[in-house]
Amino acid sequence: MTSEWKTLEDVEKHIFECTACPLSDTVINKVVRKGSDRPKVLFIGEAPGKNEDETGVPFCGRAGKILDDLIDYAGLEDSDWAVINTIKCRPPKNRNPNKKELEACKPFLNRQIELLDPRLIILLGNTAEKAFLNGHKMEWGSVEEFEGRNVLKIFHPAALIYTRSRTDDQHQFIDENRHLFLN
Ligand code: URA
Repeated sequence: MTSEWKTLEDVEKHIFECTACPLSDTVINKVVRKGSDRPKVLFIGEAPGKNEDETGVPFCGRAGKILDDLIDYAGLEDSDWAVINTIKCRPPKNRNPNKKELEACKPFLNRQIELLDPRLIILLGNTAEKAFLNGHKMEWGSVEEFEGRNVLKIFHPAALIYTRSRTDDQHQFIDENRHLFLN
């Protein structure tokens, strides 16, 4: 019963103790969360990469720099946002998380969302969409209401590293939805 996890610290303790899938055998660090514990906006990434595994901090490498730039572009203050991942352990060689891993980690994702209680959830790419929307597909840059929260799907920051032209589209996704970021 994940509702017994009353605080983010309770959830994190269970994440640190989790052995529900084999990924926990190969990680250096579990990676849980960065940012505010009362965010207006919650970004959901994919999975920890090498830098995150080494440090235990989400989005601390190249993709993290792009996410930081996006947070600035959206005009968010430090107290406005948080970021978590669909799974908390790095998959070997940064492969995509598989269905079993997503399912094993889903109770953590769900409870983190409930406790962080953001108004707006930003899905960073297809894996976040798959984990959060259980197979429902959204258009890039589109917004839907889901369980009482606005959900916006945009590109994963890593998708902008080699295709800089996507940055303009990414900014447009933010510009078109600025009303959701305000107040
Ligand atoms: N990519 C992600 O999806 N998450 C991270 O924490 C880092 C890179």
